[in-house]
Amino acid sequence: MNNLVFLGAPGAGKGTLAAILKEKLHVPHISTGDLFRDNIKKHTSLGDEAEAYIHEGKLVPDEVTEAMLRDRLERQDCTEGFILDGFPRNLSQAAYLDQLLAEQSKALTAVVLVDVPEKVLLDRLTGRRVCPECQATYHVLFAPPAKEGLCDRCGARIIQREDDQEKTIRHRLEVYRENTFPLIRYYEEKGLLVKADNSEGEADDHAEELFRKLMKR
Ligand code: AMP
Repeated sequence: MNNLVFLGAPGAGKGTLAAILKEKLHVPHISTGDLFRDNIKKHTSLGDEAEAYIHEGKLVPDEVTEAMLRDRLERQDCTEGFILDGFPRNLSQAAYLDQLLAEQSKALTAVVLVDVPEKVLLDRLTGRRVCPECQATYHVLFAPPAKEGLCDRCGARIIQREDDQEKTIRHRLEVYRENTFPLIRYYEEKGLLVKADNSEGEADDHAEELFRKLMKR
C-alpha cells in the first residue's frame, strides 16, 4: 500500500515528482492547490471562499481545506493508495489526517520530504509557468515549452500563477517555514520520513531514485 504525503517548500518540485511517481505506483496524485484552483475556475462556493487566501499566499482555513480533502480521500480511486501533495501544511492538519485515515483503518506508509535550497526555490517559482487546462508546468529558462507561450501537451496558453509573483512567493515561503516546517520533525519521529533530492538534474532521475527508496521500505 502506498499512502504517501509529499512535503516540501513551494517550488521544491513536489508536484513534478508526484506526477511521475503516480504513474509508477498507480495511485492518484491529489494536490490540494490544484483542487482549490479548479474550484476557483468553476466558481464554486468553495472556490469563492478560498480565492482571497490563495492570492495573498496565505493558508486557506483548516476546516475548509480538511472538508475538501475528506471528500477527495473518500473516493473510490484512493482505496489502493494516494499521493497527497500540499496537505498537510500544519500540525493541526497532520493530526486531522491521522484521524481521518484511522477512521478508514488506514495509515500513512511514508512521507517524502522534497528538499531544495531557498535560492533554487526563488529562481524556480519566479520563472514558473503553468497550463491552466492540463496543469503541466514549465519554466521560462529551465524548461520552456517547444512553442513559446503554448502548452506542449494540450496547446493551451500557459500562464503565471497569480501567487507566483515575487511578493506573494516570499510570503508563501514564510508560511512554509512557520507552519509546515515543523511537520518534518513530526513525521521523522514517527519513522515515516524519506528524503528526496530535487535540486539539480532531471526530475525523472530523482523520481526513479525515490521510487527505489520507497520500494525498499
Ligand atoms: P500549492 O499549489 O500547493 O502551492 O497551493 C497553492 C495555495 O493553495 C497555497 O498557497 C494555499 O493558499 C492553498 N492551499 C493548498 N493546500 C493547502 C492546505 N493544505 N492548507 C491550506 N491552504 C492550502
